[in-house]
Amino acid sequence: DPNIIVFWWCCYLLFLVPPSIVKLKEPERRHDTCIEFTVRGSPHPTLQWFYKDKVLLIHMTDYIEGCLTFKNPTHHNNGNYTLKATNYLGEATSTVYGHFLNKPFDVTPTAETQKPEDHTFGVTMAVCLAVFACVMLVVLFFFINKYGRHSKFGMKGPVAVISGEEDSASPLHHVNHGIFSPCTLEAGPDTVVIGMTQIPVIENPQYFRHGHNCNKPTAYVQHIKRRDIILKRELGEGAFGKVFLAECYNLSPTKDKMLVAVKTLKDPTLAARKDFQREAELLTNLQHEHIVKFYGVCVDGDPLIMVFEYMKHGDLNKFLRAHGPDAMILVDGQPLQTSGELGLSQMLHIASQIAGGMIYLASQHFVHRDLATRNCLVGNGLLVKIGDFGMSRDIYSTDYYRVGGHTMLPIRWMPPESIMYRKFTTESDVWSFGVILWEIFTYGKQPWFQLANNEVIECITQGRVLERPQLCPKEVYDMMLGCWQREPQQRLNIKDIQKMLFTLMKATPVYLDILG
Ligand code: AMP
Repeated sequence: DPNIIVFWWCCYLLFLVPPSIVKLKEPERRHDTCIEFTVRGSPHPTLQWFYKDKVLLIHMTDYIEGCLTFKNPTHHNNGNYTLKATNYLGEATSTVYGHFLNKPFDVTPTAETQKPEDHTFGVTMAVCLAVFACVMLVVLFFFINKYGRHSKFGMKGPVAVISGEEDSASPLHHVNHGIFSPCTLEAGPDTVVIGMTQIPVIENPQYFRHGHNCNKPTAYVQHIKRRDIILKRELGEGAFGKVFLAECYNLSPTKDKMLVAVKTLKDPTLAARKDFQREAELLTNLQHEHIVKFYGVCVDGDPLIMVFEYMKHGDLNKFLRAHGPDAMILVDGQPLQTSGELGLSQMLHIASQIAGGMIYLASQHFVHRDLATRNCLVGNGLLVKIGDFGMSRDIYSTDYYRVGGHTMLPIRWMPPESIMYRKFTTESDVWSFGVILWEIFTYGKQPWFQLANNEVIECITQGRVLERPQLCPKEVYDMMLGCWQREPQQRLNIKDIQKMLFTLMKATPVYLDILG
């Protein structure tokens, strides 16, 4: 019937609409990783995206609402994005500026990253103070000479110069580089800022102290005889040298011999010898159930040796990878999926133990600066301890970012203030703990594994945080976000973190049968 045909044609023409772009939303800087759009048109338009006038993407889609999604966009992705919608009735275009992150600054040692005016201000202050001190000295000498040696301040003779050497109680060589006087470094109870101009590598200033706590006497580093150590096999390699499984005699009053892990330092340079001694002194003073037990050193001859308790399952990063969904074991040369995947309760148990070690470190006013799963060790029954204080930089060298000549920074674990100003505090350790949680819930993935180091710096300093891992409950991700607050003071406290972990664990009973 011609009437019916005309009727349908009219209906069809009524519904024909040329394309229009009703929404093209500028991404919110730092937080958005997509450009939202809405288009209209009938028939459905074909969508084309242009970036800097080049075709980026062509959509042949029914979607009229959607999102041009980016995976971790950086400043390289900033620019104009044009959407072109076409159907046979016409075309529509619209452009939006995508500003994802600012171009980052160069990360060079602190002295260079400080604002020039800060530097000038610092120099001016130093000069003023020096002049003031000179004037005071001259006045003081004048008074001493004029009124004789009986000062009303009770000082007899010239003012004493405090020497670090005399303070120390440690039997090992006392480390005093003549740069810092121990215990004068802290800008606050937990705040340590070091001037990078004076030393080539980032040092943990606490290594410069004689013992970890200036008010507490330092324990003596125990010496173990070389003949009491029998090497069995290699366990791994750290920045100082190889790590071996060994048997050690006469270490325990109850056992004739015991298994230990020994770290060796072969042909040490003077600087390496000093680092070795510092770590030994430091470790002797840190004693806690979630800090790896340090038994002592063997320094008679070569190589120098440090003796630790043996943690059967090695470092936590390797352990997580071995108990993740991608882990394979080889049976007769054939890969076979392992069944020992970690569950939620075990992950929480691991995290709560690291938090326990960190509470202890914070109570000692010790800032670790390099907390990461590679620096934790796993023993029997899923026992986890913080196990490395600055010696793991070789095998995991891709986890560190080299700035300047020797400085290696674990930037993927560092908060913005540590990256930008080299400020390391108990709060920056809490940030790293958040990253440890992320590592645990991703079975040992490298944080920001998709990004190069300079892109990581860009993301962290401009406020982007790691995404929620697939298996991670909301409560745990909220905890991570609490560790990653930009303002250090707003971050969660490590004691509260441990309480939260305990509460979550109560809701999820721990099954430890995965390990012997
Ligand atoms: P490190 O020098 O501490 O980085 O150690 C290098 C590697 O040796 C680690 O990744 C571990 O796999 C292993 N290792 C270090 N200390 C121990 C230990 N106490 N018990 C068992 N394995 C260890």
